[in-house]
Amino acid sequence: MFAHTPHHPGDPILSIQGHYRDDTRPAKANLTIGFYYDEQGRVPDLASVVTARDTVAAHPRTPGYLPMGGDPSYCAAMKTMLFDAEPGSPLFERIATIQTLGGSGALKVGADLLKGLYPQASVHVPGPTWDNHRSIFQGAGFEVGTYPYFDAETGTVAYDALLSHLESLPEYSVVLLHACCHNPTGTDLTPEQWDEVIRVLQRRHLLPFLDLAYLGFAHGVDEDRYLLRALVQAEQPFLLAQSCSKIFSLYAERIGSLSVFCADAELARRLHGQLEAAVRRNYSSPPAYGARIVDTVLRTPELLLQWQDELNGMRERIRQARVALGEALARHDTGGYDWGFLQRQNGLFSYDPGLGKTADRLRDEFGVYILPTGRICVAGVTSDNTETIARAFATVMA
Ligand code: PMP
Repeated sequence: MFAHTPHHPGDPILSIQGHYRDDTRPAKANLTIGFYYDEQGRVPDLASVVTARDTVAAHPRTPGYLPMGGDPSYCAAMKTMLFDAEPGSPLFERIATIQTLGGSGALKVGADLLKGLYPQASVHVPGPTWDNHRSIFQGAGFEVGTYPYFDAETGTVAYDALLSHLESLPEYSVVLLHACCHNPTGTDLTPEQWDEVIRVLQRRHLLPFLDLAYLGFAHGVDEDRYLLRALVQAEQPFLLAQSCSKIFSLYAERIGSLSVFCADAELARRLHGQLEAAVRRNYSSPPAYGARIVDTVLRTPELLLQWQDELNGMRERIRQARVALGEALARHDTGGYDWGFLQRQNGLFSYDPGLGKTADRLRDEFGVYILPTGRICVAGVTSDNTETIARAFATVMA
């Protein structure tokens, strides 16, 4: 029994964490995993979340299973936060939303839903993308193709190639789109480019599946929802996988949401039923705690304001880390290497395939860990390690 079990080499990102922990050098820096770190290099407890935890602890609820689709109050609050849809409004009724196990759980349940509805479809993800996208959709039984996304030569979105690739896809293909803060490249489409993409999606009858793991980390909660709003405006049905992991710093609670924007309320009810069925055969129902915390933050006006401030603070800190690292690099002779990508890209990550080729040297000689693909988690840069990182980058690229 089990003799044929293949070896699993480990997740390329998660397995580096063990090596980093075992590294005894004091001046080491971990720029690999996608955590938001504060200026002290810690994954923070947001003050709004700490207060919400107290509120939740003071009002325990009778134990029992949540519904398959999760906490209804949380789901309603999510629709309002993501779509500006007020309960009872026509828009609210046209969105089917369930609570999920983080953004990953939302992608998985969405993938299962689509496999049931469009068994012949293929899924297309950007090149490059977050590794788990491919695994999740393949795991749900889909063929996964890649559409051009990043032009390493210019450091910008390979926009023309992206558009013509979309034009070439079979009708009813699923197209995975990063709504903002593209992981790993930190490079997003402009609103005008999104508008054009939407026109192609509509003309070609393609189904957008949005991934929104970094709402508010690019420019702000409003700006970062451009694609969602534009799709609603265009009356284009879509799926939206959303994660609370980074934006509430609630990684371990496994909390997120999956929404489907539908043509009408009756369809949304049917979709909700199918989402529940997909949850039922995966894990039956989600855990309660994370949803209660997020719901409490979103429904308590002063906590909502405090959280919005904290989210803005996280974004601003990452921006400052980009500036500080750029300035530190400018003090070194790096043979004219162009570090401008640090400022041009946004969100948690920067991406430079050339730098990625030096990942082994950065680790071995300097204790600076980046992904070999060239992805750098900029939130790992703090005033304590900026100079170490700059010296390491400058040395390997000079
Ligand atoms: N999508 C993207 C683009 C991500 O970067 C991540 C997290 N790294 C996820 C989804 C998954 O989020 P979660 O940790 O909430 O499952």
